Amino acid sequence: MTVELICVGTELLLGNIVNTNAAYLAEKCAGLGLSCYYQTVVGDNEQRLENTLHTAIERSDIVILSGGLGPTEDDLTKEVASRVMGRELVEDAGSRACIEAFFAARGAIPTENNWKQALIPRDGIVLPNPNGTAPGVIIAEKDTHVVLLPGPPHELKPMFENHVMPYLMKLEPGIISSQTVKVCGIGESKVETLLKDLIDGQENPTLATYAKTGEVHIRVTAKAEGEKEARRLIKPVVKEIKSRLGNNIYTTEEEVTLERAVVELLLANELTVTCAESCTGGLLSARLINVPGVSDVYKSGYVTYSNKAKRKLLGVKKSTLNKYGAVSRQTAEEMARGLAFLSKSDVAVSITGLAGPDGGTEEKPVGLVYIACCVKGEVTVKEYHFSGNRQTIREAAASAALVLMRSCILEYFSEITFGKK
Ligand code: ATP
Repeated sequence: MTVELICVGTELLLGNIVNTNAAYLAEKCAGLGLSCYYQTVVGDNEQRLENTLHTAIERSDIVILSGGLGPTEDDLTKEVASRVMGRELVEDAGSRACIEAFFAARGAIPTENNWKQALIPRDGIVLPNPNGTAPGVIIAEKDTHVVLLPGPPHELKPMFENHVMPYLMKLEPGIISSQTVKVCGIGESKVETLLKDLIDGQENPTLATYAKTGEVHIRVTAKAEGEKEARRLIKPVVKEIKSRLGNNIYTTEEEVTLERAVVELLLANELTVTCAESCTGGLLSARLINVPGVSDVYKSGYVTYSNKAKRKLLGVKKSTLNKYGAVSRQTAEEMARGLAFLSKSDVAVSITGLAGPDGGTEEKPVGLVYIACCVKGEVTVKEYHFSGNRQTIREAAASAALVLMRSCILEYFSEITFGKK
């Protein structure tokens, strides 16, 4: 079945508020296996709302409207929907009692226009609103279902989950379930190339790739009668992705972030870590420290922004800074080596780069970043070229440092396993 969303409110059109209801409803409907092909925002204008609703009813099975159920003159959704659906508005005794109780509980007296909210399209299904005064309504007619929800998200969400979802699940049995495979160390185009035949031949489950900062997420989504059946469809596809992308996959669990995967790797191998950051100014440390349990592995972090700090705190040689500059492979390496020596950490990571917007040259453009990772005395240095503004370059550098840490640690232990150490 198809569903269409109409969000009502002039403040949405003016950009005064962000349309979070549309994102919420769209995601929920997708999870219910409903196809959403259209979303519309329309102001508090009777004629335009009527036209929008007519169009929606013609092309979609279910139309969900949010907003405009309030007591004031410009709240028109219920009036317009009743007219379009050919239903007169009649007072609903239950809704009137709820409004009375809502005001009594707050020691307030309803104004005359509050009673307007007790008017319901004839034979409409009333959706109680314990968090506000406007009840929701479902108007069902042959193959068309029109759902009216209040605008405030704290009223809309519980109403949708408690009353609308069970209603929609009866209309469209079945669920949509997905699993995300999270990948780092290779870009989105490489991932797509490696999975091309799976993506091209997809039906159920479907595959979609999403590029994130420093990583790629692959979402495998199945439509099935129940969760168990969905899992059965997803499992072999995830297995196939694992066999193709191997170590580049850092997790298949929704709640695991890249920093958490790195911290888990440090914990599993009993490795301590220290960071020295220049252009990222502590972003890497902040991400690591965000992970619960990191205290067992994280020792310290330095923001060594100036040349003097790099020399005094990390022991970078003056001659290195003069000859190669602060943003150089050599400085990054000396930062990491000095850090490992001073902190006695198993893993020492350094970041130095040009986040801009000024200071770039032809030889060293804005976005040039060097990251060094020292694992038990063995240093790897990588050069990166990030694009974007100061903030996005800094975030990309912190993500890249996590990816480099992960690959250096894995490499170190694989060499031990294969007897090279
Ligand atoms: P009320 O009974 O509070 O008047 P209502 O159903 O008439 O509710 P609106 O008047 O359209 O809803 O919106 C009330 C408030 O709800 C807005 O000021 C805004 O804060 C929030 N809101 C409305 N629509 C949306 C939306 N699409 N996304 C996020 N918030 C919204």
